[in-house]
Amino acid sequence: MIRESQAAVIAGVAVDTRHWIGGERVASTETFTDTSPIDGSVLGEIARGTAMEAAAAVAAAKAAFPGWAATSRAERARILHAIADGVEKRLEDLAIVETCDSGALLRSHRRGVMPRVAHNFRFFADWLLRLEHEDFETRGHTNHVSWDPAGPSVLITPWNAPLMLATWKVAPALAAGNTVVLKPAEWSPLTASLLADIAAEAGLPAGVLNVVQGYGAEIGDALTSHPDVRRISFTGSVPTAQRIAESAAANLTPLSLELGGKSPLLVFADADLDLAVDLAVEQYDNAGQVCLAATRILVEESVAEEFTRRFVSKASALKQGDPRDEATDIGPTIHSRQLEKIDGFVQRALAAGARTVIGGHRDGQYYAPTLLTGVAQDSEIVQEEVFGPVLTLQTFTTEDEAVRLANGTRFGLAATVATGDPERAERVTSQLVAGTVWVNCFFVRDLQAPFGGSRLSGVGREGGTWSFDFYCDLKNTVTAPKGWTNHG
Ligand code: NAD
Repeated sequence: MIRESQAAVIAGVAVDTRHWIGGERVASTETFTDTSPIDGSVLGEIARGTAMEAAAAVAAAKAAFPGWAATSRAERARILHAIADGVEKRLEDLAIVETCDSGALLRSHRRGVMPRVAHNFRFFADWLLRLEHEDFETRGHTNHVSWDPAGPSVLITPWNAPLMLATWKVAPALAAGNTVVLKPAEWSPLTASLLADIAAEAGLPAGVLNVVQGYGAEIGDALTSHPDVRRISFTGSVPTAQRIAESAAANLTPLSLELGGKSPLLVFADADLDLAVDLAVEQYDNAGQVCLAATRILVEESVAEEFTRRFVSKASALKQGDPRDEATDIGPTIHSRQLEKIDGFVQRALAAGARTVIGGHRDGQYYAPTLLTGVAQDSEIVQEEVFGPVLTLQTFTTEDEAVRLANGTRFGLAATVATGDPERAERVTSQLVAGTVWVNCFFVRDLQAPFGGSRLSGVGREGGTWSFDFYCDLKNTVTAPKGWTNHG
């Protein structure tokens, strides 16, 4: 039984607000208040972790590691599928809690995100069973490549797609035979706690998955500088990644970093313009709080006026409001601090000469979908990630100019190209600096594809075998043929 003071009750769903360490709920002496972006209501008092709980969680992960690493692949896969079953069973609970905590749409959580959370576990369970490298021979000796579990892994995640991004790391780390300390973001900490319950019910042994709550600035360093931690996978902002990299440097702990972006959408005059407009308007999804969002729209000058006309008509029809309402297209911004940040970017851009095509203002916790034009390539609004529903529109006249503008930031997470010419698509995509490029589509994500960013958008790739390459110690074992002697 959870005591009232240790639970958040959201739409009838009780969520334990303590840490989950070594298979037990652990309180902290202090808590922090978690509020809902929908209406500012208090959701719960969350355990405010310190270095002490960080150390306890790593110790629990270390103690559980030998047992989990020695567990057969088949058994690990079975438990991961059982976790996926648990996610599916509690899909409605997870969806409503996530919506109230993060402000993202309930309809997306029900139909897209939570099924995808379950799929994260099923995919990496199945991939584990297929994971192999063909043996090869060197002068009669056999080379055998294996993926050995590496050890306790610290996984740190952001608030914009909390459970989706957490399980995109938790699932492959567990599949790899590692034990985990998960630190969710302080603005949306709740579904990570439900995940701990689901994993325990699925039979995951105590200590294999630990969840610690708290402010990153207070508990983060104790996790990332810990000498018993063998992997750190982080999704979040560039400044935090830089701090984590410094902290991890003491032990040279391998890092996977999935960071911000300022991705372009290139619209050529030969594109299906309605499709291009659809792709552009889609960038307001999750109130623009999407790392992959193509926030810089680059349109060939000859179609820019028509593109803008159709864009305004389509974007103006979007319904912004309560994310629990099935008819809503855009929900609130996660936190008032994020709103201030977004508005600061927009006001500075306007002061620097940008013009508002639509939006440019806030209404309570909601930032209006915004499109700015008249922006210079070297301006802050074009160069820096806003992480809100704010797009810029620039025009180009040649393919070379389009590529130059597209590649002209410090980021390289993703890019989208709208064109009706396959040869142009090939030419342009080969020149774009990005971890993922979409041609005439957006957000098609397969877990077997490599995922990550170039430049400041990240270090390393996860997905399919790339995830196992990161979470495991790869080993090559060379065996001599029977009867072989060194002096033969
Ligand atoms: P953030 O960097 O502020 O926080 C991310 C996480 O890091 C949180 O859990 C936070 O508590 C923790 N943290 C903060 N300081 C820490 C420290 N010193 N040590 C360890 N952990 C610490 O990012 P955010 O504002 O939560 O998320 C938004 C950012 O995430 C954006 O830049 C967005 O582009 C990026 N993002 C990237 C991807 C991707 O896959 N590339 C996906 C989603 C979000």
